[in-house]
Amino acid sequence: MSLEARLLSKNDELAETNRRWLAERNISAVNLMSSPGAGKTTLLERTIRGLAGELPISVIEGDQETRRDAERIRTTGCSAVQINTGAGCHLDADMLTTGLATLDPPAGSVLMIENVGNLVCPALFDLSEASRVVVMSVTEGDDKPLKYPHMFRTADLLILNKTDLLPYVDFDSGRCLGYAEQINPGLETLQLSATSGEGLTSWYAWLHVQLPTDG
Ligand code: MG
Repeated sequence: MSLEARLLSKNDELAETNRRWLAERNISAVNLMSSPGAGKTTLLERTIRGLAGELPISVIEGDQETRRDAERIRTTGCSAVQINTGAGCHLDADMLTTGLATLDPPAGSVLMIENVGNLVCPALFDLSEASRVVVMSVTEGDDKPLKYPHMFRTADLLILNKTDLLPYVDFDSGRCLGYAEQINPGLETLQLSATSGEGLTSWYAWLHVQLPTDG
């Protein structure tokens, strides 16, 4: 077995253990992935504030360095744990085990996992998530789904963020969604702006569906 295959199978084993831990507590995990700067943390801040008192959320933050994002999340009143990957380019199941032990997310909640900003390796690592969300912003190239197909193929939802900037950029949403559909037919998509608030209602509705139901 190649080193990569061994690494991934070890990760899958640990992910299964984490998955049981989450299932026992009726917690639904969402793995949030994107390039750096697509607006994952801003979307989380806005979402936590928008759903306060409605949907229990806690957050695991992944970045190579700094605790900045976890601190931003905590200012919303939400529990957050920061994991620093150092030279690593993604979160893995082992890091998630550590994060869960520290965070101790409440039963019946949604756990948002903000992965390291990167469209390549995060797609390979199972984090016991119930769903995978890839965030793209309209300031990126609209051909990203073709360039990073594995990320888009394994996603359950594509969010096009920063739609408030569409008048100022050369981004063709229709073309981007067409490429995404080509890579992953039937992929769910949402268009929103975490800063203007446009489109957030549909995102909140999508999240409500992720909340585990008892039994
Ligand atoms: Mg971030």
